[in-house]
Amino acid sequence: MPTLPAALLKQLTAAPGFDEPAFVAVHAAAQPPVSVRLHPKKITPEETEHLPIAAPVLWAEQGRYLSERPVFSLDPLWHAGAYYVQEASSMAIELAWQHVPQQQPVKVLDLCAAPGGKSTHLLSLMKPKDVLVTNEVISSRVNILLENITRWGNANVLVTNNDPKDFGQLDGLFDVLLIDAPCSGSGLFRRDPEAIREWSEDNVALCWQRQQRIIADAWNALAPGGIFMYTTCSFSPEEDEAVVDWVHQQFDVESLACYYS
Ligand code: SAM
Repeated sequence: MPTLPAALLKQLTAAPGFDEPAFVAVHAAAQPPVSVRLHPKKITPEETEHLPIAAPVLWAEQGRYLSERPVFSLDPLWHAGAYYVQEASSMAIELAWQHVPQQQPVKVLDLCAAPGGKSTHLLSLMKPKDVLVTNEVISSRVNILLENITRWGNANVLVTNNDPKDFGQLDGLFDVLLIDAPCSGSGLFRRDPEAIREWSEDNVALCWQRQQRIIADAWNALAPGGIFMYTTCSFSPEEDEAVVDWVHQQFDVESLACYYS
């Protein structure tokens, strides 16, 4: 594993609660944790017996940690969309979902959706009369999104290949807007050491500017009183807390606390 970028560690030192030795140790571990999210309707507990399930993911009802990484492509149930391989931290949108009103059908936009991890999760949380528009701007990535959505098997979903600006024309159409923004990828370091070599402060700056642009372009599509979810797989405060601060300055919003029991 290459050495973690000193500039990133320096930025994080100022973050409340940052524990540098633990952060470094976790990146030095030989095997990053493996987790899956089960399809709530396609798989029963008995049918998971061939998976090395070790523990539940506390913030996602269908999330499970595995004790080792099986060869998923050899498992027919993986091909059938009975579960999705996903990092446990990516399952945290389930905590935000508790704020979505459940009385009326909701329209949800997942703006940056490929390969479809969060969209398949949303579909498991949504009711049949809710509708998801799952969008990917980069055309070469739409196929994998379409494949994963098809595998998951819901009917209440549309897959699109549009620029965020296109959605900005749809005045207040969506009750929920999820932006899982493209980012500098420090959250991927454990899985992909190459991401460490590619990381740079310049890229972080490019990313937070693009993140702001994407949010600004699509914001008008969110209904008044709607729920905005913003996520990245970056640890950089410029791409996370600072973008949320910027959203507070630009738009009439309040932050909602998310808890798990
Ligand atoms: N939400 C996905 C999931 O859970 O599987 C992961 C999304 S990934 C973090 C960010 C996505 O944003 C990528 O699919 C990328 O192609 C897309 N993207 C890149 N540049 C973009 C842009 N300028 N506007 C909107 N999306 C963009």
